Amino acid sequence: MKEMDSNIQYLSGVGPKRAALLTQELGISTIGELLHFYPFRYVDRSTITPIREVIPDTANIQIQARVIQVALINRTQKTVLVRTLADNADGYVDTGLLSDLKFNTISRMTVMVEDSSGKCELVFFRGIKYTFNKLLPGRLFLFFGKPTLFQSRLQFTHPEIDYPVQMEEPSQGEGSQPHPVRNASQQEFRGMGLTGVYASTDKLKNAGLTGRQMNKLMANALRLCINEIEETLPDYVLKENGLVNLRFALCNIHFPKDAQSLKLASYRLKFEELLYLQLSLLKQKYVRSRNENGIRMPHVGEAFNQCYQSLPYDLTGAQKRVIKEIRADLTSGRQMNRLLQGDVGSGKTLVAVMSALLAVGNGYQACIMAPTEVLAQQHYANIQKYLAPTGRTVRLLTGSTKTKERKEILPALAEGSIDIIVGTHALIEDNVIFKHLGLAIIDEQHRFGVEQRARLWNKTPGAIVPHILVMTATPIPRTLAMTLYGDLDVSVIDEMPPGRKPVQTLLITERKRSALYKFMKEQIRAGHQVFVVYPLIFESEKMDYRNLEEGYNNISDAFPLPEYKVAIVHGKQTNEDKNFNMSAFAAGRADILVSTTVIEVGVDVPNASVMVIESAERFGLSQLHQLRGRVGRGSAHSYCILVKGDKVSKESQKRLELMCSTEDGFVLAEEDMKMRGPGDLEGTQQSGLPIALNIASLSKDSRILSEAHKYADYILQKDSDLHLPENAVLARELRKEKYQVKDYSQIS
Ligand code: ADP
Ligand code: MG
Repeated sequence: MKEMDSNIQYLSGVGPKRAALLTQELGISTIGELLHFYPFRYVDRSTITPIREVIPDTANIQIQARVIQVALINRTQKTVLVRTLADNADGYVDTGLLSDLKFNTISRMTVMVEDSSGKCELVFFRGIKYTFNKLLPGRLFLFFGKPTLFQSRLQFTHPEIDYPVQMEEPSQGEGSQPHPVRNASQQEFRGMGLTGVYASTDKLKNAGLTGRQMNKLMANALRLCINEIEETLPDYVLKENGLVNLRFALCNIHFPKDAQSLKLASYRLKFEELLYLQLSLLKQKYVRSRNENGIRMPHVGEAFNQCYQSLPYDLTGAQKRVIKEIRADLTSGRQMNRLLQGDVGSGKTLVAVMSALLAVGNGYQACIMAPTEVLAQQHYANIQKYLAPTGRTVRLLTGSTKTKERKEILPALAEGSIDIIVGTHALIEDNVIFKHLGLAIIDEQHRFGVEQRARLWNKTPGAIVPHILVMTATPIPRTLAMTLYGDLDVSVIDEMPPGRKPVQTLLITERKRSALYKFMKEQIRAGHQVFVVYPLIFESEKMDYRNLEEGYNNISDAFPLPEYKVAIVHGKQTNEDKNFNMSAFAAGRADILVSTTVIEVGVDVPNASVMVIESAERFGLSQLHQLRGRVGRGSAHSYCILVKGDKVSKESQKRLELMCSTEDGFVLAEEDMKMRGPGDLEGTQQSGLPIALNIASLSKDSRILSEAHKYADYILQKDSDLHLPENAVLARELRKEKYQVKDYSQIS
């Protein structure tokens, strides 16, 4: 057996107790797994800061200082023993008797240290005996940690302790006996300047697995296994991409020789990880592209042309391109799995309708699923208009469809007399059966669970699989979308219909509220409508509902009947109330709609010209962008007013200012992702990443991701089954558990 595969407890410095913790806390159970646990950052140990120049509460820094006094304090705050430098600077003296001392009664040790510029204090609460014996007065050490200010004294709590690298000047006296020389093998795995910092937990730290200790374990592991490390990428891949070999990468990711080596190491490991991710995803796509069981739809059909010819406007270039991409899929004989991305208002609905008509023109049915009742109704109304010139039938099926109507719709669907059905989750209930479902369109897919989508596959007797089009307004960078949505093909509508007016975005504070109300009144008098949105966050739900209610009461007072009509919509209402209020606003019977983010998704009220967002700092950028997209749909000049709280962090302020300065959803999404990490992007939580990433970050390494993507494609084009001898390593690695991707092609 290889050392790498042996249990972590056998690594020197670990043992059974720490092994159990490493497994429990970090999922590390073998020595090899430890080697693949990388530092999450590095600290520069090459710089020494003079004590006088230390600024409290900044990042970790390093000082080089001499111990002048050590004090041991017991649980009753009594100083039990003080150890100082002897007068002749030769050794030290204690004020108490060390032999009487019980270390388990000591709760704290303070150590005064100084360099030529000043003094500061170190504090220890744990490992006191060990540290006491090490920090002898007169000796010089390197201390590394985070400086704080305690009762106006500069302090380091539990700094890491190391010996200075240079020898001390001989003139410094006897107390400074030469520090132990590190043995050569230890030297080998010590970064000269950069030291790795590993993610840790309190439990690990309490077990003595501190940063320094982790560094030691890594050095032990590397020393033990260095000759066993087997390359995990083919030679040609290394060469063609200028990658360093795995051995070099592992040594330098843990103990960088210098900044350049670290860069090479990290690039290699990230590229590898992303390459395997892309290979496993694209491989499925290649398999699917050979799979010829998609419904073939060769015709454009009359309905499509009739609808197209009667449009009051021309399609945008982007809409035309996307429809072409979809048509190519439908005629290919392969089953389509396509993600359609387009900013709010970019005209996805029309693309959906025209795609549905392609299916209809070939004798199939189509369904369009929306996440909410209101949206389904709206789609239904729009689609009816688009379909009027075609004479085709469209029906609506939602949770509130009356039984009588339902009894009419279900058989009609089963016998094929309904061409297009629009609806909500009601569409995937078991009793909904189609004669021949050819295309399923899912709007705002992130509101649908994965299993729910899977149920669309069994809607037609005979297990004929429909083409799938998923539409989303969440702008995700293309490369990221490829990763998040597995083997879905991605189409992007990156052009707005002409005539859309920019939305003017303003950031105000509470103090401007009366001016805000005055402005809202002017807008309402001019015949427009206003959205007012409150945050609703799961963790603070109770409080948020109170704020919403309070806000609604304030607005109702400030905008009294009969002159003004205020509607309210939130998640605690019954569906009936929700629909009633929502429809009242959509139909113009209410001037103001106060709500939580339920309106975020898709509703179209062209007459609304103002979007007020309360406590705007509590929303993510993408969410703010979605909300803002609700206005600016009509002919009037539109406004988005962000009301921020009194105490807003610098970061939030920056985000809100960015909102005011750009309307580009991709810029905002990218920024959002940088700040929150891609895991937080709405919709990604549900679908999740197909593979857990260890070192690469989808938001920070998008360039490497797109290189890896291109390269994976290039490999598979030549050898889609990875059967060639030079790809044997790739095939072997891909079979490993960590690269097993869930098969998204079956569920999207
Ligand atoms: P999305 O669903 O992408 O947010 P919609 O499909 O609701 O966008 O379209 C937004 C508005 O733009 C609708 O009122 C629609 O009628 C209009 N629209 C769509 N395509 C065009 C076009 N090519 N030219 C002009 N207006 C368009
Ligand atoms: Mg829409």
